[in-house]
Amino acid sequence: MTKAGPGFSTLAIHAGAQPDPTTGARVTPIYQTTSFVFDDTDHAAALFGLQQFGNIYTRIMNPTQAVLEERVAALEGGTAALAVASGHAAQLLVFHTIMRPGDNFVAAKQLYGGSANQFGHAFKSFDWQVRWADCADPASFDAKIDERTKGIFIESLANPGGTFVDIAAIAEVARRHGLPLIVDNTMATPYLLRPLEHGADIVVHSLTKFIGGHGNSMGGIIIDGGTFDWSKSGKYPLLSEPRPEYAGVVLHEVFGNFAFAIAARVLGLRDFGPAISPFNAFMILTGIETLPLRMQRHCDNALAVAKWLKERDKVSWVRYSGLEHDPNNALQMRYSPKGAGAVFTFGLKGGFEAGKRFVEGLELFSHLANIGDTRSLVIHPASTTHRQLTPEQQVAAGAGPDVIRLSIGIEDVADIIADLEQSLAKI
Ligand SMILES: *Cc1c(COP(=O)(O)O)cnc(C)c1O
Repeated sequence: MTKAGPGFSTLAIHAGAQPDPTTGARVTPIYQTTSFVFDDTDHAAALFGLQQFGNIYTRIMNPTQAVLEERVAALEGGTAALAVASGHAAQLLVFHTIMRPGDNFVAAKQLYGGSANQFGHAFKSFDWQVRWADCADPASFDAKIDERTKGIFIESLANPGGTFVDIAAIAEVARRHGLPLIVDNTMATPYLLRPLEHGADIVVHSLTKFIGGHGNSMGGIIIDGGTFDWSKSGKYPLLSEPRPEYAGVVLHEVFGNFAFAIAARVLGLRDFGPAISPFNAFMILTGIETLPLRMQRHCDNALAVAKWLKERDKVSWVRYSGLEHDPNNALQMRYSPKGAGAVFTFGLKGGFEAGKRFVEGLELFSHLANIGDTRSLVIHPASTTHRQLTPEQQVAAGAGPDVIRLSIGIEDVADIIADLEQSLAKI
C-alpha cells in the first residue's frame, strides 16, 4: 500500500472484507439468514434505538451486504453506502429521503428509459414531480428550479447514447441553489470516473450492470458523499427533524456525514423493503474483484468496434465519445481518460427496417434489454427500452427509430467484429 492509501484494484478486491472471524473463511460468506441473535435484551434495545450498530434482520442489514456497501463506498470515495435490490430501488429510496408530497426535482432528459418511466409516471403516485432539463446545457437546470425543488439528478455517462456529462458545471448549479446533486454512475463505474470528485453529493448505481458485470444478479446501491448539509430549515425533514420512531433522534445531528445513508436505510429500506439478497450481494462482490480489468477491456474493445463501424458503407453514423472527432470527445478526455465505456449507438443507412434485420442477423451478440455483461449485447431502443417515450422524447434521449445500441463485451474483439460483419453483409 502506498502513502496515499490502497489503489483502486486493491480496494476492488479487499475493501470491506476480512477473513471470517469464526471460521477463517477467506472469501466473504453468504450469510443466508433472515435474522440475528441478540446478546441480551439491552443489546436488542440498543440496536432498535439506533444507539448501537448491528444486525437485526436482513431486510435492514446483513453482513454480506455490509461488505458490498463498504467496498463500493471505498471505490466511489464516499462515507457510507446502502445496497438494495435493484438500481430502481436505490433511486426510489434516494428520492424518498429528500422528497415530500408536492416537491419536485430536476433531472436530465438524457436518461436510462426505465428511470424516465419511474420519474415521469410512478413517482406521480407520491406527488413527486420531475422537471426535465438538458444535460448539455447547465443553465436549463437553473431555469427549472423553484422553492419546492429538492435535488438534481443526472447520469455521469448518459444513456443510451453514451455521452459524458459536464458534472462539475451542473454541480455548480446545484451548489448555487443549495441542492444535492445525485449522479447515476452505472455506465461509467468508479473505475472510469468518480462523480464525488466533481461535486456530486449522492451517487447511485444499478449493480446489475458493469459492477456485478456478469449478467447474473440484480442489485442497486446508494453512496453517501458526506458533502451535503441536510440541516437547512426544514427542507429535508427526514434528516433534520426529530424522528418519532427513533425516540426523537435527529439523523443529521447523530450521524453527521453519513446521515443520508442511515436515513435511506432506517426510514426507506426498513419500510419499503427492497433488500438485496445475501446471495446477490455475494455474486456482485465476486464481480467487483475484476471490475478494473473488465472495464478496461470493455473500453478497449468498444473503441476498436466503433472505429471499425465508422468505416462501413452501410453505417450512416457512429456516436462513441472515444472517437477522436466525436463532439463528446473533449468531455470524455476530461472526465474519463481511461476510456469511453462499453455502450454506444450507431445508425444504419437502411433506417428502422435495416436495423431490425441487422439485430436479428447477429449470432455472437445477444439481443436483450441489458448492458454491462461480459457478453456483447445489442438492442433497438425505440422498439424496446425507450418504447414508452413519445417520439420527441426518444429523439431527445438519443433513441430515435434508426438507432442501434451496442454494449460491447470482453470477448476477443476479432470475434465481435466478425459477427457484426456477417450480419451487415446480410442487409
Ligand atoms: C439498468 C439501469 C438502471 C436501473 O437499474 P436496475 O438494476 O435495472 O433496477 C438505472 N440507471 C441506469 C443507467 C441503468 O442502466
